[in-house]
Amino acid sequence: MEYKGMSTISVHSGEYIDEAVRAVVTPIFQSSTFLLSDKEYERILEGKTRQANIYTREGNPTRRAVEEKMKALERGEDALSFSSGMAAIAASLLSILKKGDHLISTFDLYGGSSVLINRDLPSLGIESTLVNSTDLEEIESSIRPNTKLFFFESLSNPLLKILDLPKIVEIAREHNLITIIDNTFLTPYNLRPLEYGVDLVVHSATKYLNGHSDIIAGVVVGKKFLIDRIWEKMVRFGGSMDPHQAFLLERGLKTFSLRMQRHNENGRRIAEYLERHPRIKRVIYPGLDSYPQRKLAKHLLKKGCSGMVSFEIKGGDEAGLEFMKNLKIIRQATSLGGVESLVSMPFNTSHADLSEEERRRMGINKGLVRLSCGIEDAEDLIEDIDQALSRVSRW
Ligand SMILES: *Cc1c(COP(=O)(O)O)cnc(C)c1O
Repeated sequence: MEYKGMSTISVHSGEYIDEAVRAVVTPIFQSSTFLLSDKEYERILEGKTRQANIYTREGNPTRRAVEEKMKALERGEDALSFSSGMAAIAASLLSILKKGDHLISTFDLYGGSSVLINRDLPSLGIESTLVNSTDLEEIESSIRPNTKLFFFESLSNPLLKILDLPKIVEIAREHNLITIIDNTFLTPYNLRPLEYGVDLVVHSATKYLNGHSDIIAGVVVGKKFLIDRIWEKMVRFGGSMDPHQAFLLERGLKTFSLRMQRHNENGRRIAEYLERHPRIKRVIYPGLDSYPQRKLAKHLLKKGCSGMVSFEIKGGDEAGLEFMKNLKIIRQATSLGGVESLVSMPFNTSHADLSEEERRRMGINKGLVRLSCGIEDAEDLIEDIDQALSRVSRW
């Protein structure tokens, strides 16, 4: 029977029932290699090692279980798992781009992807243009004869700008470009970019997909002919997922749908609470009427907007630091998407290597705080934020 609902898919898709033992849970095949028989020798001769269990850098059944689940969640043709989100992103970009090619991306990108595009790709002879992801005219006018792909995030960090996916795909198709979308912040629970015609979706599975802040992991889902090419890069660059990591990710994914419901609800309730607070200058959350791209957000995000809330506190960075220190349940750490709420400020973490002027130009104003709402009770989180704000001395 076909699994239809998000929760049913989260629990069951991809599960591996070992007929010899009949365990309910997908086993951890913690083995670097597998016994060879005529079938495997045949596959090796045909060059089809991806379809057989031969060596774990190339493939592993525990990993395959998690890939099948991700394939079902994003509704893609195929999926591949990696040792980190960056391994998935790097292998995906390098499977398409070669010397002399050009890509279009944006300046407010996850730091790791930004450095990869700005420093590593140029040394391989791959150029890029970084645009404002909300400016479709700028995107289209940046296309050159050697442009091969678009790389954007569906919801950006930390300013939570939403991407106009239908328009981006339209431009890409017109110019024969491949579109890769980093869907880490929204997840397939809130948005499935492949349904809009995107070619590949990449994730840092470290965040919402695993959801428990206990592994680093990455996945890519999308067109099979592209996933086959990415697999070749994965095998050569070596960023394959470990079987134990795959087990943890598969276990985390079983509650994915349940967790996302709560993340969405907590994000919305906390954003609404903050917007009414006199010590808060501005709240950025796609579910608020004050959100600059509200119409687009309403159109694309039918279920919710995730648990990421950004806001500017009166009194600037000093007040932000004081606020964070005062928190008792919510703790300071980078990363996001876990069951526990985490808070950080871009100025001294993700965007610390930019100058104050560069941050200001990007829209990262003084006092900007980024909150990843966990799955705790909203009342407790709000009470914690309330007491922490009331004890801030400057504003
Ligand atoms: C964390 C993150 C990454 C990098 O993923 P890792 O698992 O840390 O390698 C990429 N993109 C986004 C949007 C992220 O938040």
